[in-house]
Amino acid sequence: MNKDIDSRGVVVVGAGPTGLLLAADLAEAGVPVTLLERRHEGLSNLSRALVVHATTLEAFDARDIAAPLIERGAPVKSLRLFDTAVVDVSELPTPYPYLLVVPQYETEAVLYRRLERLGVRIRYETEVVGLRQDTDGVTVTVRDTSGTREERAAYVVGTDGSHSSVRSLLGVEFPGHTVVASVMLVDARLSQPPEARIATNTDGDKFAFVAPFKDGFHRIICWDRKHAKAETEPVELSEVREILRETLGTDFGMGEPRWSSRFHSDERQAERYRVGRVFLSGDAAHTHSPAGGQGMNTGLLDAANLSWKLIAVLRGRAGEALLDSYEAERYPVGAAVVKGSGRLLRAAQVKMTPARKARNLAMHFALARPAVNRRLGYALSGLWISYAAPHGAHPLTGHRAGDVALAGTPSRLFEALRGGGFVLVAPAELHEAAAKAGVKTAVSADGGPVRLIRPDGYIAWAADAPTAEDVAEAITAAGA
Ligand SMILES: Cc1cc2nc3c(=O)[nH]c(=O)nc-3n(C[C@H](O)[C@H](O)[C@H](O)COP(=O)(O)OP(=O)(O)OC[C@H]3O[C@@H](n4cnc5c(N)ncnc54)[C@H](O)[C@@H]3O)c2cc1C
Repeated sequence: MNKDIDSRGVVVVGAGPTGLLLAADLAEAGVPVTLLERRHEGLSNLSRALVVHATTLEAFDARDIAAPLIERGAPVKSLRLFDTAVVDVSELPTPYPYLLVVPQYETEAVLYRRLERLGVRIRYETEVVGLRQDTDGVTVTVRDTSGTREERAAYVVGTDGSHSSVRSLLGVEFPGHTVVASVMLVDARLSQPPEARIATNTDGDKFAFVAPFKDGFHRIICWDRKHAKAETEPVELSEVREILRETLGTDFGMGEPRWSSRFHSDERQAERYRVGRVFLSGDAAHTHSPAGGQGMNTGLLDAANLSWKLIAVLRGRAGEALLDSYEAERYPVGAAVVKGSGRLLRAAQVKMTPARKARNLAMHFALARPAVNRRLGYALSGLWISYAAPHGAHPLTGHRAGDVALAGTPSRLFEALRGGGFVLVAPAELHEAAAKAGVKTAVSADGGPVRLIRPDGYIAWAADAPTAEDVAEAITAAGA
């Protein structure tokens, strides 16, 4: 373990995808991490999220876990929305120009394996029931099979889902409302699957979405607003078939499901992501309908944004102010995602036939324009995300670095980012300050400005012709 790291460490509450990624990042940097999970031992059997987007795959690549996830999924290059409108993501500027359709439990399994390799054991059947913080740390009250006890940590992160206990214990509001009351999920085989790999349509009250998994099963998400039932009611296959026939013209020969579930969907965002030494990430901070497939992706990127900041502060490389940038950067992303998903859902719920026809035509013609198609592709894939830069900063600051081609080995940025830490991409004569600070260095294969890349793949600082002193200052200022 790195001796310079604050030994009180971090308690992460909730071992969903957000908590799994965050805890592993912290452990990889040598931060003592405790991952608490209310469930019994074993991975969640929930097959909720099914789409992993390009920006998330880039974050996985930077952790050397993209390949095992891609192996388990089915890449899909276009998405049919509302009748004939098609979003094509195959030209997006990323090594992963597709939507990866893969059940959430597979994504969790890949994240879990990384955590296991790093030696972190999840403490199952352990629930956080109390929180108290002072200037020095946080006291967490946990209840497990042997009773109730207190634990101390430098920081706590609530990755405990949309019903977050951490959020309630902090008294942080979660304003919003229910948008769909009775969503049905079914994983089944289809004897006549749709031609477009992902098909979705609606007649206003009824909605259906069909996407293929790699193993021959399909995921169906559907609802009928006129026949909303309690979440405890089983999913009726006859109802699912009827919704498919009425929205997509066929039930695709749907067979018996291997899994089905019913749930309701809210649109909500926590008013704050940080209260002192306690943070909220993932569904604990934002939740919305499955439209756009953004929830898990956004949570994973929250975790990637927060982990390196906690590491920098715990190592004494940066002051507490760096931690404020987590909410400053990720709250607007969460707000945009909730809004975008809501817009898509409301477009799906247009009821009147003439309005629906107008919507379908408008979408068809809008998406026929490459610029609009690209914009929607950027929105879905997360490639649109950038963060505010200080006044007067180089125009690249705050933007996604992308998989910069590097001279030598490693030959690309996402490989250089593996293992955590910043990367300075600069001519060799400017590497000295970075080497002194323990920052990784690389030479760009294509020239371009000098860039200091954050561990989450965003550009912390850039300059066209900096001096060695400029580079040294930038490294200190970034907390690298
Ligand atoms: C139908 C559907 C389809 C979806 N499709 C997509 C998609 O395609 N793409 C996408 O990105 N997202 C999708 N999502 C959203 C995605 O499933 C969630 O955003 C994701 O699971 C959130 O992950 P999380 O780790 O933040 O929270 P969760 O997965 O909810 O994990 C929270 C964990 O915290 C534990 N916990 C709770 N309270 C406590 C406590 N007090 N103490 C200890 N542990 C606690 C819980 O047991 C749980 O394991 C979909 C959701 C649904 C419902």
